[in-house]
Amino acid sequence: MSLNEDDARRLDEADPGHRDLFYVPPAEGGRYPEVAYMAGNSLGLQPRATRAELLEDLDAWAQLGVEGHLDAKRPWLPYHELLTEPAARLVGALPTETVIMNSLTVNLHLLMVSFYRPTPGRDRILVEDTAFPSDSYAVRSQARFHGLDPDTAVARVEPGRIAEFLEREGDSVALVLLGGVNYLTGELMDIPALTTLGHSKGAIVGWDLAHAAGNVPLSLHEWGVDFAAWCSYKYLNSGPGALAGAFVHERHLDRADLQRFEGWWSTDPATRFKMAPVATPLPVADAWQISNPPIFAMGPVRTSLEIFDRVGMSALRQRSERLTGFLADLLDSFEVVTPANRGCQLSVRVAGGAGELSRRLRFEHGVVADAREPDIMRLAPVPLYSSYHDCWRAAEALRACL
Ligand SMILES: *Cc1c(COP(=O)(O)O)cnc(C)c1O
Repeated sequence: MSLNEDDARRLDEADPGHRDLFYVPPAEGGRYPEVAYMAGNSLGLQPRATRAELLEDLDAWAQLGVEGHLDAKRPWLPYHELLTEPAARLVGALPTETVIMNSLTVNLHLLMVSFYRPTPGRDRILVEDTAFPSDSYAVRSQARFHGLDPDTAVARVEPGRIAEFLEREGDSVALVLLGGVNYLTGELMDIPALTTLGHSKGAIVGWDLAHAAGNVPLSLHEWGVDFAAWCSYKYLNSGPGALAGAFVHERHLDRADLQRFEGWWSTDPATRFKMAPVATPLPVADAWQISNPPIFAMGPVRTSLEIFDRVGMSALRQRSERLTGFLADLLDSFEVVTPANRGCQLSVRVAGGAGELSRRLRFEHGVVADAREPDIMRLAPVPLYSSYHDCWRAAEALRACL
């Protein structure tokens, strides 16, 4: 497409997004003061508000010591509760179904303790063949934990064949665990349809929303998803290794038959300091917590979720469709492997040497994009802060390098 730099600048004036709320890394030398940051699917940029929030929490520790548990401006004991409602809104869940805790793969394991309960004849876990490595390792280790051979217990199926596989072999599947948006191709799966299909075959259906949370609108409660987990450092801009989210559907919250690993943060907060030998968890997702959480990791999630609350996921999705549509037009001479049902990420197949290409994009053009060897370049115009001009720069740089 012959869209030029002025077109991109004009679109940015008409549809500016919220770039002013974020730090965009500088680009040394070159024509532009900032990098064209297309890697928010890997690590989101830092909101400007995060630093002050984090410093307040540090100051509370300096000024209050142990009394910060109750007396800090954001008291540490119930701090995680401040994150629950905005996180629930973001994924379309009830607050009772939602908790921010741990990191993503840890949450997947804790949820599989409850929701992967293999029985003879129904013992398989279905994942997509392009599952993220951490998820692949997690499900294999869960199978081994139950004394099963992971080579037979884990079924890896092409995304386009999952429905067909469930129709044919669903009776042997205990758990379907899929990425809501695929990390490699950027494909947005039909979460409600696959959830319903999995249920009709008697399987539990869980979703890894690492690339979906903050990227596409979600309605986990309404869709009847059994459980889900997501990280907060990609589209949720909460910083490297940020705390993750977990969702457990309401219908599972009060089940006495579910296994769960527990600690003192699982129990009813009213009894937490009664030092009782037996936990008395409430019927809420909080009961899946184990330890007292890392307080200095909470502020960044809170400030980030506040931005999502303010802007709203549906407005973000609309800008996302415009922005990603613009980039797709610019990339029409490349092999884009991302299908039309997508979030904001476009994955371009290159001839190979994706890692070397990403270094050239970065150091010759100031474009930050994410390579997956051998041949995929991932470009994610993030609707909160990416510009049309970033998209134009990314497409021009790709053209120059290839
Ligand atoms: C990013 C990502 C992870 C990362 O796992 P952590 O436990 O946060 O290190 C896992 N799964 C998927 C699908 C991802 O995209």
